[in-house]
Amino acid sequence: MLVFKFGGASVKDAAGVTNLANVVKQYTDQQLLIVVSAMGKTTNALEKLTKAYMDQADDMHDIFNEIKEYHYNILAGLFEPGHPVFDEVANTFVEIDWAIEDEPHDSYDFVYDQIVSIGELVSTRIVNAYLNKEGLKSKWLDVRGYVHTDNTYREGIVEWDKTKTSIINDIPALLEKGIIVTQGFLGGTSENFTTTLGREGSDYTASIFAACLGAESVTAWKDVPGILNADPRYFADTVKFDELSYTEAIEMTYYGASVIHPKTIKPLQNAKIPLLVKPFTDPSAAGTVIKEDGHNQFTKPVIILKQNQVLLSVSGKDYSFITEDHLSDVFRLFAQNNVKVNVMQTSALSFSVCFDLNEQRFEKLLNGLKQDFKVKYNEGLMLITVRHDGVNTIKELTEGKTILLEQISRNTIQVVVK
Ligand code: ASP
Ligand code: MG
Repeated sequence: MLVFKFGGASVKDAAGVTNLANVVKQYTDQQLLIVVSAMGKTTNALEKLTKAYMDQADDMHDIFNEIKEYHYNILAGLFEPGHPVFDEVANTFVEIDWAIEDEPHDSYDFVYDQIVSIGELVSTRIVNAYLNKEGLKSKWLDVRGYVHTDNTYREGIVEWDKTKTSIINDIPALLEKGIIVTQGFLGGTSENFTTTLGREGSDYTASIFAACLGAESVTAWKDVPGILNADPRYFADTVKFDELSYTEAIEMTYYGASVIHPKTIKPLQNAKIPLLVKPFTDPSAAGTVIKEDGHNQFTKPVIILKQNQVLLSVSGKDYSFITEDHLSDVFRLFAQNNVKVNVMQTSALSFSVCFDLNEQRFEKLLNGLKQDFKVKYNEGLMLITVRHDGVNTIKELTEGKTILLEQISRNTIQVVVK
């Protein structure tokens, strides 16, 4: 069986959904499980709605109406009025009406997951209904009954044994009857609350199903020809990799390459399942194959940019050295507040860390650190990572910029710049 993942860009409008159906039609001789993300930039919009609700902002209902209208426009491009999918979608959006009816009293991350998850619940309703309309036998599956997580909201940790049991119990029999369409990015807790797996987590969902079912392969259908050495939005003359090893793919995502979610590769590597990254506009193109013996050929350095970085340094309040004890306190605070370190560096008197800005988590982290340390930080920075012969590239990229931190290892150069 095959697992397909369609990201937001592939279903950003009615034409995207039609294209998805055309891709799927070429694979009807195989068993298919299709994982779908929220449409277009819906997740960003739902994040904005969550923030507006938590702040009780005036534009909360406007933001929500825009999200609904966007989806109703897509529906209107795909179905005749009166098709049952209009009600299914409306009923799904009602969950948000309920969630935002009263003033907020739950934690930010919990509320976030209950609201943001609606993006995938709606997109899969639309995709499934359209596949049926096109004569493809498919069934909508609520992923929250299959991908079981703990209650770390916004970053649900998958409970593998339970997840595997659920998937193996039901999915093979369902696949015998037709295509399965399900949500990426979502999970469910043992109390039946919705969790999300971290931004861009739909790839991870695809890899969870593939690993549990022993799929032949996973295909991530993207708006790029495959995995490129750099983001084509910022760089001209990118090159595509035909093959990558799991190891190189893990390294690239670890440093922030956003083309696949960092947690995706491990389950696939463990089960030796290849991951194909292919363009949804040209299904017969080869794309990039990530596999165990993938042949890495770097004709150009790999460049990874991460915006919106914070560089923070902590030092002792009384000029004391930063010792292992201090570091363990510092790391505990990072872990407790779910802040992931992108680069770090120690000196005698201070310890510097670079990480993605998440305002709520950052505030809590700062409060914790300030109890015991002197803290200084800079926001709005960029982390540039260049792998494989990157010396000249780094020079070009940092020209005219202030370098705040630099780290060089055998294959990788990282700099934090202003
Ligand atoms: N819709 C989610 C996001 O944009 C998950 C995904 O696309 O993979 O982060
Ligand atoms: Mg998305």
